[in-house]
Amino acid sequence: MAREKTPHTYPGIPASPGISRGPAFVYQVQDLSVPRRQIQDSESELKRLEKAITIASEQITSLQTKAETETGTEEAAIFEAHALFLQDPTLITAVHEAIEEQRLNAEAAWIDAIEVNASNLEALEDEYFQARAADVRDVGQRVLRILLGVEESDLTDLTTPSIVIARDLTPSDTVRLDKSLVVGFCTAEGGPTSHTAILAKALGLPAVVGLGRSILDLKHGDPLLIDGSRGEAIAFPDEKTIQEFETRRMKIEAQALAELETAHEPAMTTDGHQVEMVANIGSPQEAQIALEHGAEGIGLLRTEFLYLERREAPNEQEQLAAYDAILDVMEDRPVVVRTIDVGGDKELPYLDLGFEANPFLGWRAIRMSLDKPDLFKTQLRALWRASPGHDLRIMFPMIATLDEVRRAQEFLQEAHDEVVAAGHEVAGRIQVGIMVEVPSVAVLADLFAREVDFFSIGTNDLTQYTLAAERTNEKVAHLGDGCHPAVLRQIHRVLEAAHHEGIWVGLCGELAGDPDGVPILLGLGLDEFSMAPSSIPHAKTIIRSWSRSDAQSLATKVLDLDSAEAVREYVRSNQPE
Ligand code: PEP
Ligand code: MG
Repeated sequence: MAREKTPHTYPGIPASPGISRGPAFVYQVQDLSVPRRQIQDSESELKRLEKAITIASEQITSLQTKAETETGTEEAAIFEAHALFLQDPTLITAVHEAIEEQRLNAEAAWIDAIEVNASNLEALEDEYFQARAADVRDVGQRVLRILLGVEESDLTDLTTPSIVIARDLTPSDTVRLDKSLVVGFCTAEGGPTSHTAILAKALGLPAVVGLGRSILDLKHGDPLLIDGSRGEAIAFPDEKTIQEFETRRMKIEAQALAELETAHEPAMTTDGHQVEMVANIGSPQEAQIALEHGAEGIGLLRTEFLYLERREAPNEQEQLAAYDAILDVMEDRPVVVRTIDVGGDKELPYLDLGFEANPFLGWRAIRMSLDKPDLFKTQLRALWRASPGHDLRIMFPMIATLDEVRRAQEFLQEAHDEVVAAGHEVAGRIQVGIMVEVPSVAVLADLFAREVDFFSIGTNDLTQYTLAAERTNEKVAHLGDGCHPAVLRQIHRVLEAAHHEGIWVGLCGELAGDPDGVPILLGLGLDEFSMAPSSIPHAKTIIRSWSRSDAQSLATKVLDLDSAEAVREYVRSNQPE
């Protein structure tokens, strides 16, 4: 049936503000089912296979060239290995035998041989070879797609500025993405704190998530408009809609430009109370962007970028270079580095995190670090070595118990002693804190506050655990709102307990840059707001429009409301004059 190319609006969830227009680039991980049949003509089946392998080799060569010029030699080397694998005589002989002797069709013969090869690699002791299994399957899928005549859809194929449409994007997907060619994101799944939303904000690009599966029916090149503030996407927009969006886009851009001009001034309320405004970053390149947007430091360095899309964990020297690069840009400003936070929706092939029925409740973050001393201490040693001459602070993610804090601190002390014994210089003292993102920590905040130098509240996870609503699941996204009084009351409790013990509190979940959340957090007494660099100028503007006392009254009021909607409605209808 011919597709109708009339305007169609897809309602979704706002994830990153702004308006964008461009052709769609549909990234769909296909579930390829493999037909299995007996064939008569093995000659023609062998020819089909040979042709598919030739096409796959050509595709890989062009990806390798692209990687060499754009991303560097490490990624190019992966494609080189893929190309070599296609010539592997053991593999080719096994497929030929299956076609000629067992009379299997090419698709089934090919995928069987790939599976045998991948499983053999997985069975080896060496982690390097185990990780090669993923490469083998990757090449296997490429040839299979060609045999089946399925259109290829790979993030590395993005060649013109486009709006990326996907089911959801994991951090490792986005590493492969040429971000200079993305003008916006649309996802079928995910909520406002999913990693697609975080990535989009980091890039300052509009994003709409939770659009439902029908958005995936769009085709490459279909014209699309997205509004990341309203949370909608419009396919095949008519001229009138394009004009309307264009007018709004210009207005938003003019406002953003005006706010950027004052972004370097402090965030001071009308009655003279100043709060700290810092950035969440996920790579060394973002440090400079943070400064340009008025960040006074880094409140959250997500260090996962060091570990993703690799064949083995980064060594101490490599990590040190990355931390140095960020600290050099930030000079003596505070930089809070969070130790590795993988698991959940962030996989690491070389660590073999294993299958878990509920990965967000599983072996994530500090839980894994404490079980893998080599991996953890390598990171901690690199951090100690990076510390001299800077205000580097260390933070542990996903803490749930006091025992975890104490054990993490023991590792930190061991790493310190090892670095000093090896003759390296270290800072005299560094601040050590924890993320408050598990309700057990909020409940026992008074006890935790005695053990650390600071808290940083991670409302993305704290909300998902409080409302029992997974942050990547769009069907429950309406429940996972950080403005819910159940979350706000925990923040209130954490602030009171921390201040009573004389420690400072930051907040680095998406709520810190949420225009409705900012005045509430100000009123609750938050010391440090940490958010995507692109959100800082607007959040500073909001803080400058409030007096501390009005924000306090607002916070007291919303703590007594009974839903996130009521809280947002109250904030919006009680803006300062
Ligand atoms: C959070 O949970 O709020 C947080 C900042 O951590 P992440 O989004 O990286 O899980
Ligand atoms: Mg978190």
